[in-house]
Amino acid sequence: MIPFLDLKGLNSQYKEELIEACIKVIDSGWYIQGNECKEFETEFAKYCGTKYAIGVANGLDALILILRAYKQLGIINDGDEVIVPSNTYIASILAISQNNLVPVLVEPDINTYLIDPSKIEEKVTSKTKAILPVHLYGQTCEMDKINKIAKKYNLKVIEDSAQSHGAYFKDKRSGNLGDASGFSFYPGKNLGALGDGGAVTTNDEELANTIKALGNYGSHKKYENLYKGVNSRLDEIQASMLRVKLKYLDNEIEKRREIANYYLQNIENSNLILPTVRAKDNHVWHLFVIRTNKRDELQNYLAENDIQTLIHYPIPPHKQEAYKEWNIKSYEISEQIHNEVLSLPISSVQPLEDTKRIIQIINNFN
Ligand SMILES: *Cc1c(COP(=O)(O)O)cnc(C)c1O
Repeated sequence: MIPFLDLKGLNSQYKEELIEACIKVIDSGWYIQGNECKEFETEFAKYCGTKYAIGVANGLDALILILRAYKQLGIINDGDEVIVPSNTYIASILAISQNNLVPVLVEPDINTYLIDPSKIEEKVTSKTKAILPVHLYGQTCEMDKINKIAKKYNLKVIEDSAQSHGAYFKDKRSGNLGDASGFSFYPGKNLGALGDGGAVTTNDEELANTIKALGNYGSHKKYENLYKGVNSRLDEIQASMLRVKLKYLDNEIEKRREIANYYLQNIENSNLILPTVRAKDNHVWHLFVIRTNKRDELQNYLAENDIQTLIHYPIPPHKQEAYKEWNIKSYEISEQIHNEVLSLPISSVQPLEDTKRIIQIINNFN
């Protein structure tokens, strides 16, 4: 079976260094809010090109805490609206709902699967306070257009960078393309911990300090609480794993890019639509997503040929039971995408012969 993602193989590449890092933490006797988290924050901020990075418990919390901090600072209030793509992993939308804010869904571009900037302005109202673009599958959104709209209406731009560690838009990296950004280090992400983890990046000192305090019981100083905060911290073991893996992230991305380019050059089947890449270096290929109106047939056919594929995602957020109130609404582009997309195996440890076999099998599909 060719796996969708060989996580064990991926982490095994760094096993000795990971074990060493783990032992160092065990022997330090300090497991939360210590040196590893601090060092990782410095290194990750540098990687993204931002002034600040704050470690948190997971990617969902990163997004929740950004919005929560803007509320704490009086910039966003209960009932305000946040613009978000209609085709995203549901976490992007949950972060808005959790803060008693209203998600306003905007359709994606059918070619890039990214929020369509030309459809944002018509959704802006007097209640709109932020845009939350999602760099889905590893390609950055058209941030020049999005930031221009944000500037015109005085909106915050919060990137969901959970799938786009290291991706560029022009000369800046994901995480440094708006006012603040949420990252996930879920094990399967391009930069994955060996458990849960997340981070916020920003150049805004006041926002950074507020998020840091909010994620630590609202405390900026031991036993003194400024806010009614939560517990959302990146622990020392996970931070130490991430410090090891961050060193290899660019190399991991390069290997993914080689596989993606190989797919792009060699898959030939008129039933399929290959990914649209705006500028090659923008894409870090968290997922290699093809589209076809024979999606389920193709997935079964690949499974019969021992190739594992996944669907990102099978049900759009507005059709989820969790958002019953939206079930009657229709977002046609998003629905079409959810019905037609299929993610092919891709990872830094995928052997060339597997990639070749996948291509050969796909080219024979009709
Ligand atoms: C993975 C993901 C998240 C959530 O990250 P977790 O660490 O699993 O909480 C948010 N948004 C997107 C687009 C994601 O892919």
